[in-house]
Amino acid sequence: MTRHLGVASKKTNNRPYTGFDGVATGITPGLDMLIRRLEKETGRGLWNNGAYGVRDMKGKPGNPSVHATGRAVDMSWRDMPDQRGKPNYRPQAQKVIDTLVANADALGLEMIIDYFPHPWGRAWRCDRGRWRKYDNRTVSGAPGGDWYHIEISPALARSPEAMKTALDKAFSPNPPQP
Ligand SMILES: [Zn+2]
Repeated sequence: MTRHLGVASKKTNNRPYTGFDGVATGITPGLDMLIRRLEKETGRGLWNNGAYGVRDMKGKPGNPSVHATGRAVDMSWRDMPDQRGKPNYRPQAQKVIDTLVANADALGLEMIIDYFPHPWGRAWRCDRGRWRKYDNRTVSGAPGGDWYHIEISPALARSPEAMKTALDKAFSPNPPQP
């Protein structure tokens, strides 16, 4: 495979995946920073459809959701009557998600679930560094779900400063040329 100069192709070192690691008291500051920036970058084309919540995973009773850790958010492109979301925004939303994945290490990205694709959705994880399409019913909401579930690491969740630095780099209008 040819690698084009000028295209970011940073190797992801397959960081370990954390998952549920205890109930937090609320949304973490790093995640709050990420959500605000995503809403700003997209003009609320992507909006926060739920971050902190102490509950089990949807459709998986007994398995606590990572939403309880304050490190997970569901960002939706659903077109709402009150300025949230935009019509037919899926392609643009995916570009923003691609930007996050391209900067996954700096952002402490651990998992993204994309509920939209047929037949059963797909997920990106830090411990494999790539997307995998589910080949059976794995996540409630797929296919066709109009949101992405995003999880970040405990370290980035604790540090809005590190998150801001990583976001500034990821969304820089003038990425450095090699
Ligand atoms: Zn979620």
